[in-house]
Amino acid sequence: MKKTIRDIDVRGKRVFVRVDFNVPLESETGRISDDTRIRASLPTIRYLIERGGRVILASHLGRPRGKVSEDARLKPVVERLSALLGLTVAYVGDCVGPEAEAAVGRMRDGDVLVLENLRFHAEEEKNDPGFARKLAALADLYVNDAFGTAHRAHASTEGITHYLPSVAGLLMEKELSALGGLLASPARPFACVFGGAKVSDKVGMIKNMLARVDVVLVGGGLAATFLKARGLDVGKSLVEDEMLSEALDIMRESTRASVPVVLPLDVLVAREVKAGVRTAVVQTTGVPPDASIVDIGPRTIEHFFGRLEACRTVMWNGPMGIYEIPQFALGTKCLINYLAGLNAVTVVGGGSSVDAVQDMGLAELVTHVSTGGGATLELLEKGTLPGVEALNDA
Ligand code: ADP
Ligand code: MG
Repeated sequence: MKKTIRDIDVRGKRVFVRVDFNVPLESETGRISDDTRIRASLPTIRYLIERGGRVILASHLGRPRGKVSEDARLKPVVERLSALLGLTVAYVGDCVGPEAEAAVGRMRDGDVLVLENLRFHAEEEKNDPGFARKLAALADLYVNDAFGTAHRAHASTEGITHYLPSVAGLLMEKELSALGGLLASPARPFACVFGGAKVSDKVGMIKNMLARVDVVLVGGGLAATFLKARGLDVGKSLVEDEMLSEALDIMRESTRASVPVVLPLDVLVAREVKAGVRTAVVQTTGVPPDASIVDIGPRTIEHFFGRLEACRTVMWNGPMGIYEIPQFALGTKCLINYLAGLNAVTVVGGGSSVDAVQDMGLAELVTHVSTGGGATLELLEKGTLPGVEALNDA
């Protein structure tokens, strides 16, 4: 267990809060197209304001690669944050140096200041100790609420913790308790449903979770590699040949541990991956050589639901098909609907999977929607993250 902001006194203290304000911006207007990440940081910010902390917020945005980039300034974020909080948030054009120091010096208890994009300095991603020390010099306490960046050991997520008392924010705490709960003490039976594009992104997580769950269901692009490893012909489907031996390893471990890895029975196939094409449902033993698997089929959906029905915990990562094309989205949509209605702890992680749940308006009906992306997968693979390890123990 890590210390959180609820374990410390912040009144009158300068609190450096690493947040994840890496929001998507519309390329033409520079407007924020989705402010979920800003909203996710509000509980921590409000908590600190209410208790008289001086709240210094720092984040990265986009990929400026160590140089000042006008389109990666945090100005639009500051405007949105001011509106959401209903107060004037101060903003300073650098995250270290005299200008930042002066802005912090002007703060009073309960004030909020946003520092400029951390990644305008190459030292941030290099976890440069001198840079970390400069960031730390702005504050008395450090709070990490940027769960989505906690798998990176950067100056603002790891380096800075060497110089300040360091605790978790409320979003970080929520993520760690939901995902940590899957690892530590899940209600059983416990199922993982994996899909998405690539086995290579997920193999570590699948192996770690296989040792902890009662059943694993595999759909999406991953399934083609597993089916091929079982000796089936998958036509032109996305396959990672270099992952065939990993897939076999996983299936061998599944047999050894008596934890079923359930593959699709039938799939939706198409000759081209684009909207409007003719599709067909075929058994996985009968995928035509000139077709690709684009979704799981109806028997598979029923079969998966049968496996999930008795489960008390379900973790889902990765779409069941190429859900961006509505014709290929049925498997993913049915799964989301099913999870939303299931009387179980349901956790969704991964960028695409979370988007799909939010697009359907069902985020409130699952237990936890993880904000993490890569951090979520790495936590489920390794059980810890560098930015979490670095925080003080409770
Ligand atoms: P997440 O972001 O939820 O972790 P991934 O990034 O692993 O998920 O994968 C998402 C992508 O997987 C989507 O763009 C989707 O189109 C793709 N995908 C799903 N099923 C297939 C498939 N059968 N063939 C190719 N790509 C697929
Ligand atoms: Mg993704």
